[in-house]
Amino acid sequence: AKFVYDFTEGHRGLSGLLGGKGANLAEMTRLGLPVPPGFTITTAACREYLRTGTPPPALRDEVSAHLDALERRTGRRLGRGADPLLVSVRSGAERSMPGMMDTVLNIGLSDTSVRSLAAQTGDERFAWDSYRRLVQMFGETVLGIEGDAFADRLADAVAQAGAADETGLAAGQLERLTRMFQDLVCERTGRPFPQDPREQLDLAVRAVFDSWNGPRARLYRRQERIPHHLGTAVSVCAMVFGNLGQDSGTGVAFTRDPATGQQGVYGDYLRNAQGEDVVAGIRNTVPLAALERLDPASYAELLRLMEVLENHYLDLCDIEFTIERGRLWMLQTRVGKRTAAAAFRIAVQLVDQGLIDEAEALRRVSGEQLAHLMFPRFDSGAAPAPLARGVAASPGAAVGVAVFDPARAVARAARGERVILVRRETTPDDLDGMIAAAGILTARGGKTSHAAVVARGMGRTCVCGAEELRVDHAARTATTADGTVVREGDVLSVDGTTGRVYRGEVPVVPSAVVEYFEGTAPPDADDLVAAVHRVMGWADAARRLGVRANADTAADAARARRFGARGIGLCRTEHMFLGERRALVERLILAEDDQGAQRALAALLPLQRADFRELFSAMDGLPVTVRLLDPPLHEFLPDLTDLSVRVALEHRDEDVRLLAAVRRLHEQNPMLGLRGVRLGLVVPGLFAMQVRAVAEAAAECRAAGGDPRPEIMIPLVGTVQELEIVREEAEEVIAAAAEAHGTRLDIPLGTMIELPRAALTAGQIAEHADFFSFGTNDLTQTVWGFSRDDVEASFFAAYLEKGIFGVSPFETIDTDGVGSLVRAAALAGRAARPGLKLGVCGEHGGDPDSVRFFHEVGLDYVSCSPFRIPVARLEAGRAAT
Ligand code: PEP
Ligand code: MG
Repeated sequence: AKFVYDFTEGHRGLSGLLGGKGANLAEMTRLGLPVPPGFTITTAACREYLRTGTPPPALRDEVSAHLDALERRTGRRLGRGADPLLVSVRSGAERSMPGMMDTVLNIGLSDTSVRSLAAQTGDERFAWDSYRRLVQMFGETVLGIEGDAFADRLADAVAQAGAADETGLAAGQLERLTRMFQDLVCERTGRPFPQDPREQLDLAVRAVFDSWNGPRARLYRRQERIPHHLGTAVSVCAMVFGNLGQDSGTGVAFTRDPATGQQGVYGDYLRNAQGEDVVAGIRNTVPLAALERLDPASYAELLRLMEVLENHYLDLCDIEFTIERGRLWMLQTRVGKRTAAAAFRIAVQLVDQGLIDEAEALRRVSGEQLAHLMFPRFDSGAAPAPLARGVAASPGAAVGVAVFDPARAVARAARGERVILVRRETTPDDLDGMIAAAGILTARGGKTSHAAVVARGMGRTCVCGAEELRVDHAARTATTADGTVVREGDVLSVDGTTGRVYRGEVPVVPSAVVEYFEGTAPPDADDLVAAVHRVMGWADAARRLGVRANADTAADAARARRFGARGIGLCRTEHMFLGERRALVERLILAEDDQGAQRALAALLPLQRADFRELFSAMDGLPVTVRLLDPPLHEFLPDLTDLSVRVALEHRDEDVRLLAAVRRLHEQNPMLGLRGVRLGLVVPGLFAMQVRAVAEAAAECRAAGGDPRPEIMIPLVGTVQELEIVREEAEEVIAAAAEAHGTRLDIPLGTMIELPRAALTAGQIAEHADFFSFGTNDLTQTVWGFSRDDVEASFFAAYLEKGIFGVSPFETIDTDGVGSLVRAAALAGRAARPGLKLGVCGEHGGDPDSVRFFHEVGLDYVSCSPFRIPVARLEAGRAAT
């Protein structure tokens, strides 16, 4: 294998091998941009090193050959001669991991070459400053000496010299400081600072490889779901110097504003400095536009190159550059990160500029970004300086009083207060408090910490890992680095979209994008809404998947329709029996004789009929899939413990009878118990009542001039026999209702596929089903053997932490396991019944990655909660491009 690529050999398609940085340096070189010469050591070499503990044997010779070539091209030798070549050694993985891995600059300086550099540049101060930086960076990153040891000595030297900062140190003072740094190295490692430039280079390369597995990098990869086995590439590049005086400097530039997408000149510049000075934020930069005055020629050249890059990458690029004595060099570029709003604006702008087509524009945005734009947000103009910053773990804007333990959070929430639960980290014991809270804030943990996983699952706003906060649960305080104390009851505002936490109440503004979907804001309300409007149009035109809603009320149905749903894919009828009507279902379940049951059913029928009429009217002309009752029984019965206590205290006869019945029906695993079709088969008349309500509601809507399109769906079917029995009865009920109303009723009868057995026998089931809807919630539960009500809060955080899966299978469909059952059942179903309509109505129907999968499997539609509908439309469009 080839382990080293010259910048002239690679291109941007090789980012897996050369890392993003190496691939883009090669691409810029190919484009003829002024990139200092150099070469990139591949990720394959790093993987080999990480596997065996030593660099691959061939690497040394390859590096030698490329170093020779570099020396020939520059006419200089690494660390030798009158004009010594110096190089930088920089990490660069396929996906950028900003600041997570190591960089060493000025490799090649030694006690001799520092003097040559001084003579060559005529700048002794510069030469010693560069050497000082090398010993410091090398000591820290390659030799593992703690940074403070260097920083303290530097601060002492600055203080002794009476200077404001290190730029005030003279050559002699920097020389003495360098010697002190060298002594420190010797003291700590037992060896002098290496004088051989090649040894410096080899050690630095190894250090960069090692930094792939540093704790910071590992944590970052876990959070960003980047696989650990990829490894990093290492780019070795001839040094150019931004610290050679006032006509030199270094900066960053964006071809568009990464926050808004506006085209223009964005970035920062720092005169007489090297790159790490900008990143470290030690000195104040000036806006890039100021460069026009400082160095008009370089500025003009930079603008020209920015345009070249934009026109080549056809996207927002970010750039690192250095000016060495009036000469501009490009040190890095990449397609830049951007906010969700900027992503939409830029995609549309590029289409309008004729640079990309609509399909490409769809690829440039994501459902995740759209979802972000749909959360209410804090009014940025009104926000004070943040109190703390952490990981943006679960989006949203939450305001409430700080509370430091879950029980008190529950108590205060019960009094009607909005609560922010503040914890060092959360555990499953905190669950009650998390449910009660409007927002969650932790000092520890990343995007896969318990707090983050559970909060996302519940749709709670969450910021985690706000490390500058010291949380003292006993004292009920959180203290910031500067000593500000937050006490229980203090108001906090938590921004789960940016990770910022504010003291006090920051005003919340509704999402303009939601107002647009709601129809309360016009499509040209502002340029973001206009961009979203156009992108949604492209997505709708491109997509093949239909999008329906999971909705149980007319209000939800109406909203879903405004958001673009073309029908209801799941109406959970058990949701129609909560609240006051729960007692009616309870009476039905507990009825001791047929008469009692009939009375309960007769009371339910008109209520159901009225519900359905409303739903059909809200979705007039569009399909409405009504699922027959699928209650976990316990949700409809009094709590066993509460009831036992009441019986013990009050001894009422009716309670005693009730208790006996509840005991009889009590289940250890209600989600696997008497649910769905099973209930329909053992409680006579229940399903018939529901089917009759659907049929009569349809007939009544029709008579009133409407166009109702009901579909009836049977839940939790495991075998075709269950379906046959229910179907036969349903057909009779529908026929009777049609006759009674003197109309024709054509109501498809279908089934959910949500048990492995149903998926495995889908061919048989399809013979008796007019459609399938995949219930991927239950299918995930039963395929994995994961209790859907329990596992996310108990051990999922540990599983995510260990990388067993990157995301909860209840959130994103497990394509290998659950997904392959879906695929097989879809095939078998359509083989048995060509044209069989296929949908999905589990939570996955609104998840971006899952929508893509359902498109690939060839389903007809996805059904999801009303708020996810725009996301599903967009992702369905993206999947089709
Ligand atoms: C499912 O199981 O995926 C489903 C949609 O049904 P429920 O969530 O109501 O069980
Ligand atoms: Mg289900």
